[in-house]
Amino acid sequence: MPKYIFTTGGVVSSLGKGLTSAAIGLLLEARGFSVALQKLDPYINVDPGTMNPFQHGEVYVTRDGTEADLDLGHYERFTHSDINRHSNYTTGQIYNEVIRKERRGDYLGACIQVVPHVTNAIKECIRRVSDSVDVVITELGGTVGDIEGLPFLEAIRQMALDEGPGNTMFIHLTLLPYLPTSGETKTKPTQHSVAKLREIGIQPAVVICRSSVPLEEEHRAKISLFCNVPKEAVIEERDVDHSIYEVPLVLRDEGLDDLIIDHLRLESPHAPDLSDWEELIEAIKTPHGEVEIAVAGKYIELHDAYKSIYESLSHGGIANRVKLRFRKIASERIEEEGAGALLEGVHGLLVPGGFGERGIEGKIQAIRYARENGIPFFGICLGMQCATIEAARNLAGLEGAHSTEFVKDAAHPVISLLEEQREVVDMGGTMRLGNYDCRLTDGSRAAAAYAESDIEERHRHRYEFNNEYRSRLTESGLIPTGVNVDHDLVEIVEIPGHPWFVGVQFHPEFNSRPTSPHPLFRDFVRAAAARAGIFEAGDPTRSEATDE
Ligand code: GLN
Repeated sequence: MPKYIFTTGGVVSSLGKGLTSAAIGLLLEARGFSVALQKLDPYINVDPGTMNPFQHGEVYVTRDGTEADLDLGHYERFTHSDINRHSNYTTGQIYNEVIRKERRGDYLGACIQVVPHVTNAIKECIRRVSDSVDVVITELGGTVGDIEGLPFLEAIRQMALDEGPGNTMFIHLTLLPYLPTSGETKTKPTQHSVAKLREIGIQPAVVICRSSVPLEEEHRAKISLFCNVPKEAVIEERDVDHSIYEVPLVLRDEGLDDLIIDHLRLESPHAPDLSDWEELIEAIKTPHGEVEIAVAGKYIELHDAYKSIYESLSHGGIANRVKLRFRKIASERIEEEGAGALLEGVHGLLVPGGFGERGIEGKIQAIRYARENGIPFFGICLGMQCATIEAARNLAGLEGAHSTEFVKDAAHPVISLLEEQREVVDMGGTMRLGNYDCRLTDGSRAAAAYAESDIEERHRHRYEFNNEYRSRLTESGLIPTGVNVDHDLVEIVEIPGHPWFVGVQFHPEFNSRPTSPHPLFRDFVRAAAARAGIFEAGDPTRSEATDE
């Protein structure tokens, strides 16, 4: 029988609830348990696929092709939880389900209400991920006190009743603001948010406190008294110095795994084994040098808009034992100030995925600069499409080459709409999504990186490399080195003579973990490190760091 942990957040959003939930998952795995992680989002959208990345951050894609919340990225980077279409539910999806049933007559004429119909639907969603795991960790999005979160809180309260004592556990993550003027840390907002939970009937077993200053004994005592939580279950999650990957170690040092095991009456086969994470942190703390990577995108002001990209780059940094510095460049600025001025001195350029015309010419100019100056280049999805347009215009001499996403009647539509996409009307969930196969060409950089010839990667796009231009572009030096054989679609392009120039139609950033960095990110960073003079230039496939 699975046990259930529910993580809620109080006081403010953006406290790192996703990260904390993922870290809890990792701690439990390190104690020998299998886990499933899940996020419930109280907003009305059916999924975040149609939301502006400026507001909501990156859209995460699961292997089975759902567009989901970016917290699922933390879950996959920290744990082995199977992340799929049941790993993220929103109010929109749940009401959709309830209303569909009502229209079908499934409720046999009953009056449909939030309790029990909507709360039952929520509980079903939670139980869908519970097959063959020891512990389900469900994170509730938003902040306690939000109106739209109420049905979810009510549903998890009922779960405690349904599952019986010792089978469910509530963990509340909160902020202790520090007032520099009076030099005080305040616990009142935490008291209020736990009071709000208790009003509904939820008693947290653990309160995890985020604070910029160390938690004093008096604060623990106060939170314990006012929140009805034992003192040892008031835990500090202090800000980490080097990397978010330290969070699990911080929580272990606070004894969180023991608290969970006691509360859920679990029997752990062994003490936590986090040796690979400890080694990882050691590698992060002792880099051989610093490498600067430019990321040129449209939503560059918001770190979360390219969350998995930055994380995967950092994994590449860990693999090569170098520290990364990011030069974040709004692609529009390149159009005004020129690629040379903005990219001067960088050791690598990454152009991530995106939608819409704004900043496209800037990306194309940046790619041209990287190609002409031998700067390692990694293009992802839209980045690969821009590299194709650039090569078409400047290597193949196809004037007016473009993607039909931006110029419907382009003189040379080198990127065009997939046949199956022509009839699509609904915008939500209708792209080419999720895992597709790709066959790699022997001797290519991609094949060298993966060290195998058949791979699978996640997709999220409507437009595609236009095969009518395949031979023309190949002759000009842009070589397709990865192809989806079933549909004869070009998935990877490379420029062989260049130090490292790879564009991929898929999203490798969803398949990288700190403990097993994605091969393309690893090799891209290695090539950039070579340019930075850290490894011997000209031989990016061998590095001191990995030879050690
Ligand atoms: N806008 C492009 C397409 O739909 C690229 C999508 C992406 O980068 N995720 O094909």
